[in-house]
Amino acid sequence: MKVVRTPGEVREQVSAARSRGTAIGLVPTMGYFHEGHLSLMRLARQESGFCVVSLFVNPTQFGPGEDLASYPRDFDRDLELAGREGVDLLFAPEAAAMYQPGASTYVEETSVSRGLCGKSRPGHFRGVATVVTKLFNIVAPDLAIFGRKDLQQLMLIRRMVRDLDLPVRIIAAPIVREPDGLALSSRNVYLSPAEREKAPRFHLSLLEGARDMTGAKGEVAQILKDTARRIEERTGGTIDFVSAVDEDMQEVSRPEDCRYLAGALFLGRARLIDNVRIGAAGELD
Ligand code: AMP
Repeated sequence: MKVVRTPGEVREQVSAARSRGTAIGLVPTMGYFHEGHLSLMRLARQESGFCVVSLFVNPTQFGPGEDLASYPRDFDRDLELAGREGVDLLFAPEAAAMYQPGASTYVEETSVSRGLCGKSRPGHFRGVATVVTKLFNIVAPDLAIFGRKDLQQLMLIRRMVRDLDLPVRIIAAPIVREPDGLALSSRNVYLSPAEREKAPRFHLSLLEGARDMTGAKGEVAQILKDTARRIEERTGGTIDFVSAVDEDMQEVSRPEDCRYLAGALFLGRARLIDNVRIGAAGELD
């Protein structure tokens, strides 16, 4: 695996691979790898002949007072894990290599990204859309892999690719969970042992809420309220939101229009996000 720090070096490596007729796959990450990240890398390797992983804790997607400075980092371990997965190129730029002084151009999606996390983290998705566009321009991948764990991010990227005619295929990867149901996240290290023990109840309660939603009559509001209350009682955390949304991440009021139950929970120092998909036939899938 080759490690590079600048967009110019990425272009060099990628164009050499492309000239051999190889399809290029990209996995954007912020590092501190876990099985979720590794599953994306495996998928990229299956779907392409040259796998690029970017590792960049992108400052423009963090708000003031968020965890940019303390975001977990372990470059040597990441290097080892990505190498073992057969990644061809690791792009790990410094912020200065990604953003020119006085950078003043952003990419902003105005619908998919507005609700849910977009409401509680203003500017977050503008930072995401901008950095992902830059990564697409630098790497020019044929395909890029995003996890369903960050559901709104995935849907926003799909919308952006469609709206801006970006020539890249977006592949969605399933959520990887701990055996007890907690979705893997780099931020799980923020949890104390007691919080870690309670954290899976977030997912279990979302599953219960999704079951209540299936075949329910009337409005979703009561189900969301009950789900939020159960999550807070069982985890000791504070709900940011629990929402019933369609494929476009718009809130729905009729249970039959609900495709996902999505939530965010403050638990100790961590802000956890998770979602559960509700199948077209009303079954969980
Ligand atoms: P991050 O480093 O947290 O920005 O995540 C990089 C990519 O890995 C994103 O596409 C995430 O959706 C994906 N990802 C993170 N956690 C998981 C997980 N538990 N299962 C599947 N994908 C994940």
